[in-house]
Amino acid sequence: MYELLKQEGRAKRGIFHTVHGDIQTPVFMNVGTCGAIKGAVSTDDLKGIKTQVELSNTYHLHVRPGDFLIKKMGGLHRFIAWDKPILTDSGGFQVFSLAGLRKIKEEGVYFHSHVDGRKIFMGPEQSMQIQSNLASTIAMAFDECPSSRADRTYVQNSVDRTTRWLKRCQDEMKRLNRLEDTINKNQLLFAINQGAVFDDIRIEHAKRIAEMETDGYALGGLAVGETHEEMYHILDVTVPHLPVNKPTYLMGVGTPENILEGVERGVDFFDCVYPTRNGRHGHVYTNNGKLNLFNRQFEMDERPIEEGCQCPACRTYSRAYIRHLLKAKEMLGMRLCVLHNLYFYNTMMEEIRGALDEGNFAAYKAKKLEGFRCGART
Ligand SMILES: [Zn+2]
Repeated sequence: MYELLKQEGRAKRGIFHTVHGDIQTPVFMNVGTCGAIKGAVSTDDLKGIKTQVELSNTYHLHVRPGDFLIKKMGGLHRFIAWDKPILTDSGGFQVFSLAGLRKIKEEGVYFHSHVDGRKIFMGPEQSMQIQSNLASTIAMAFDECPSSRADRTYVQNSVDRTTRWLKRCQDEMKRLNRLEDTINKNQLLFAINQGAVFDDIRIEHAKRIAEMETDGYALGGLAVGETHEEMYHILDVTVPHLPVNKPTYLMGVGTPENILEGVERGVDFFDCVYPTRNGRHGHVYTNNGKLNLFNRQFEMDERPIEEGCQCPACRTYSRAYIRHLLKAKEMLGMRLCVLHNLYFYNTMMEEIRGALDEGNFAAYKAKKLEGFRCGART
């Protein structure tokens, strides 16, 4: 399933073969929370900006429009008109961060919907059933993401429960993939490593889930308040205990700098809302650092966001025009910034893969980081 093509230090270059096509790694997954990338970006647009994988949120789709409706509509691929890989998260993160008044028990979590307040129960089996109804390419195991400030005893108990939940996820997925009316009978399951910032808990958990032989391994509970150095340290100590012949996914991370550091530490998959969220606020990425297009200096700037960029925004429009659209609150302004940012991330991943193929990732990374720093100074 995962083909490791090359390694440079701990950095991995691979291909993940799925029923919805191959994923070239390292890859940045583009986040479409409710079945669409925020910023009026269509699935047709995604084909023009090098998107390989779309990520959708199980919790949001379960609450609205409902996973049974999506199943009746032929599954998420057909519903959103996207035939390439889709990864769905487990819903756990939103349940623990968004939903109101939750109660965690061995069987799962009771909480209230953030849309209409109705009481919902979600446990490992329910999360797998919802993701099976959505028929995503890759499903994520249902886990608890303890706060980075939680104490050691709490984190240890939580991680132990997450391991027991993983077994239940595996059993339930096996059952679902065998059912006659399951849309994607080849659905894959990724386990999630937790343990906050406790090295030994992280390592022990990595070893335990590695033995359980899932299709891929994610690191969860990072980029939730700890420093970048703490996050890099966790990757340094944990990733070596995850199977090198399976994809490694760093959830919810991050800036272009974070991604370069993650790749160096052996990460294959990334996802983050930064390029879309920043784009919607007129913050755009370039190889010389980030620009805020609302700034006065761009009022009559005829240059594209980035010279030489082949994205749909830069091929046609000036900074001055996009700035005007943003100020006038025209939807096109936001859309062009989101398209540019996703293209920037997806292109950087393509460059990273090229550098790994050539065996010069270290030099590429140093040069890229220097560019970001220099630009930030000017
Ligand atoms: Zn561009």
